[in-house]
Amino acid sequence: MLRPLAAYFKVLSLTKFSDFALAEPIQKRVAEGGYTTPSPIQQQAIPPALEGKDILGIAQTGTGKTAAFSLPSIHHLLNDKRRAGRFECRMLVLAPTRELARQIADSMTGYSKGLGLFVTSAFGGVPINRQKRILERGVDVLVATPGRLLDLIDQRYLTLSKVEILVLDEADQMLDLGFIVPLKKIVPMLPKQRQSLFFSATMPKTISQLADQFLTNPVQVSVAPQSTTAERVDQKVTYINQDDKQRLLKDFINNENPDHMLVFTQTKHGADKVVKNLMAVGIHSAAIHGNKSQPQRERALGDFKSGKINILVATDIAARGIDVDGITHVINFDMPNVSEQYVHRIGRTARAGASGISYSLVAPDERQFLRDVVKLTGVKPDVVALPEGYDEPPREEVAPRIYGQKPKRYGATPTRSGPPKNKHSSRKGRPGGGTGSGRGGPGSSAKSDGPKHWNNGAKSFKRRQARNADA
Ligand code: AMP
Repeated sequence: MLRPLAAYFKVLSLTKFSDFALAEPIQKRVAEGGYTTPSPIQQQAIPPALEGKDILGIAQTGTGKTAAFSLPSIHHLLNDKRRAGRFECRMLVLAPTRELARQIADSMTGYSKGLGLFVTSAFGGVPINRQKRILERGVDVLVATPGRLLDLIDQRYLTLSKVEILVLDEADQMLDLGFIVPLKKIVPMLPKQRQSLFFSATMPKTISQLADQFLTNPVQVSVAPQSTTAERVDQKVTYINQDDKQRLLKDFINNENPDHMLVFTQTKHGADKVVKNLMAVGIHSAAIHGNKSQPQRERALGDFKSGKINILVATDIAARGIDVDGITHVINFDMPNVSEQYVHRIGRTARAGASGISYSLVAPDERQFLRDVVKLTGVKPDVVALPEGYDEPPREEVAPRIYGQKPKRYGATPTRSGPPKNKHSSRKGRPGGGTGSGRGGPGSSAKSDGPKHWNNGAKSFKRRQARNADA
């Protein structure tokens, strides 16, 4: 699972992995994985983490933060080679999504290969029984999503009382997904004496308050402020009527023939609709969102990674943390109503120092979202004109769209068809029930050559059809 990445990691500093006090076999795994130079977050986080300090890290996926928390943790686990008791784990990593949990577990398995540590993951969408059987024996590292973790604790297949190292990854996404209640339940189950490593892409007040509950005198480390990602991506925007978006997307794909394109919609239903409409004109794609079964999600992601399909349509929840190299285009079919999400989305095409192109299709009721994004990133996307044959959208101000959320900032009411289902509703309000606690038992800068017009750079539709026929 260790994969070498671009030159980005090379030129950053003269620090080498051998400069860290990491145990020899770990150094070996790192070298075998092709890593030569630690990334900035690794340079900052590994030394204090090795000293056993708590860490408060501000870093996005793609910065190498998984290794930043994994390598020193593996070092600790090896140094004190205690065996995890039944129903216990020595290190707990909490991640917001199944994909991220699996990815972290895969990375940690790679980093600790042959070192005698047992790494496993536990998340929803797959049968719980296998996870129970594994936990019954005890594991060194458990990577879990909060919901499934609490289920396992409730069913008394796991106790957190022996956790030595806790990692909370993508904390801001945890909050976005409504995991605050599960997290608050988890904190008191953890032993006070532990090391905690806390990572988030952003650090608004709510996150630092959450961090306070987990951390003791943390060392703060931070890399790549959000704007850096935004500056690396060649951002474009087209103002369009909502009803014309499907047509424009098809035209764009037929003309541009993008290699590896991620399309974001705001709702699960919206994602399915895009896939259906593309399919109707012979364009193959797959959707990944919370209503898909785990095997469906894995197949879609696998096909996208392998290049079997070159278009993946995703909601934010499913796409967060997805580690796919070489995404050339990110399309905001719907604008996100939370600006930070925009940075995460376009960051999918700017991993590890790469650059890419993002297009945002902005309907009249999404203009406020675009203004929010510009305010956050300080970067104004280039406006790409609509091709001929499309009606220009009205220019007058339209109240922002509401996706089942309060229109608090704007004081406006929605003018479009009623609000769709709350995008978070499926994750929120996980049945509280008992927690099993208390018993003690197991319980516009770097420009790329994207078109200046949606019709430019046309490539033959036939070529795409031929390619799809192979898929
Ligand atoms: P992450 O931010 O942990 O998702 O890592 C992003 C990607 O960078 C993953 O594919 C890692 O395998 C890779 N990576 C992490 N650290 C390094 C490093 N020091 N040198 C090269 N690649 C790395």
